[in-house]
Amino acid sequence: MKNVGVIGGGAAGLMAAYAAARNGHKVTVFEKNEKLGKKIYITGKGRCNFTNDCSLDEFFSNVVRGEKFLKGALYAFSPQDCMAFFEEFGLSIKTERGNRVFPASDHASDVTKILEKACRSYGVVIKLNENVKHFRSTMPDIIPTSDIVDSCTTNVILVKTDLSEYCFDCIIVATGGISYPSTGSTGDGYAMAKTIGHTITDLKCGLCGVNTTDIPLDNLQGLALKNVRLTAKYNQKLVFSDFGELLFTHFGLSGPIVLSASSKINRFPFENVTFELDLKPALDEQTLDKRILRDFDKYKNKQLGNALIELFPQKLIPFVLSKAKIDFKKNVNVLTKEERIRLVKTIKSLPIKISGLRGFNEAIITSGGIETSEINPKTMESKKLPGVKFCGEVLDVDAFTGGFNMQIAFATGFVAGNTID
Ligand SMILES: Cc1cc2nc3c(=O)[nH]c(=O)nc-3n(C[C@H](O)[C@H](O)[C@H](O)COP(=O)(O)OP(=O)(O)OC[C@H]3O[C@@H](n4cnc5c(N)ncnc54)[C@H](O)[C@@H]3O)c2cc1C
Repeated sequence: MKNVGVIGGGAAGLMAAYAAARNGHKVTVFEKNEKLGKKIYITGKGRCNFTNDCSLDEFFSNVVRGEKFLKGALYAFSPQDCMAFFEEFGLSIKTERGNRVFPASDHASDVTKILEKACRSYGVVIKLNENVKHFRSTMPDIIPTSDIVDSCTTNVILVKTDLSEYCFDCIIVATGGISYPSTGSTGDGYAMAKTIGHTITDLKCGLCGVNTTDIPLDNLQGLALKNVRLTAKYNQKLVFSDFGELLFTHFGLSGPIVLSASSKINRFPFENVTFELDLKPALDEQTLDKRILRDFDKYKNKQLGNALIELFPQKLIPFVLSKAKIDFKKNVNVLTKEERIRLVKTIKSLPIKISGLRGFNEAIITSGGIETSEINPKTMESKKLPGVKFCGEVLDVDAFTGGFNMQIAFATGFVAGNTID
């Protein structure tokens, strides 16, 4: 039996604690907040989309960074294993559009309750309001025994919190990233990892809104477009393309396809990134042109701004026409063929200038983190210091929305806890 310390009582840390305790180890979780899983409460808009009931191939197609590293963990603890775990501990679950799995109650708090129940059923000690400051490796015989709570015999890791000092045979760092820092994820694990020689890759916002410079936001704010295609290019090279829902906001763009795009463009200089919207992805240029000709015939004596009302929401028309450089007030019957073709091309590929991402206060995930080549993917153990493991968002791994990020936290946490000898 090993004495195991887990730093962070979020998704990854609690799963790691459960997996280690289930194998007979003595486990203590340190959580600096007054309650466990503060971030879990706000996931999935308070409903917690905790995994995705898909095949592993599909899962990996939704991973943005760390796909190869994550393979072992996802095979060891698949989305279906995750669902079985929650059901075994009494959670009723349901699967929605896109295989997204939620608690049937629609309460994210139930996910945290189950994790806590699983931990407590194997005797995990949970220390709330206790902030881990740092840890270091030392020989057991030089630890001043008066300062420590438990005694260890081998591979001793000395953990210092704001309240006390502890020694462990093994520690699991599950401190999360730096997005939504108000939930407790303030990047502490990066500093801890650096002290033992780990590399932290550049930290970028993932799954967040995008600031734009050329959208008349006063007019468009609040407008949601369903079934549009967003394409992102860096220096004219395609880096992202997806179909779905987009939202105009007070800062620019948000909505599912924009969040996904943000995770693919966050490492490029924004001045060289372009967004293009295909507002009518179901129609090719020729079909769209025919459709527009039909509408123009119907509204031939109207101004152009009033002739496109069957094609677009009213609010969007001035924006599309200004991008096509056509006067909104021009009469349909004097529009040239050249102008009409320009309109068709703009509808199929409307350019939007972006100026940056929203920032970590609003990002759903941190992209970047502990360099995964420095971690053993089969055990989550540091290659720099034996006895220290890392799991969850603190690692340089991230994925699109759909329950994939929580599943990554659970799978890496499970492997970290389950592979302590
Ligand atoms: C608004 C929002 C919605 C989201 N929705 C979803 C969703 O529906 N589905 C999905 O898959 N993903 C979602 N995510 C992402 C998901 O929440 C994270 O990927 C996941 O929680 C990461 O788990 P983690 O355990 O690695 O880190 P965290 O959940 O961040 O947990 C880390 C814990 O460590 C504690 N801690 C940090 N430092 C210390 C320290 N020094 N001492 C003690 N404790 C410490 C923190 O207080 C925190 O409780 C969402 C994220 C946000 C912000």
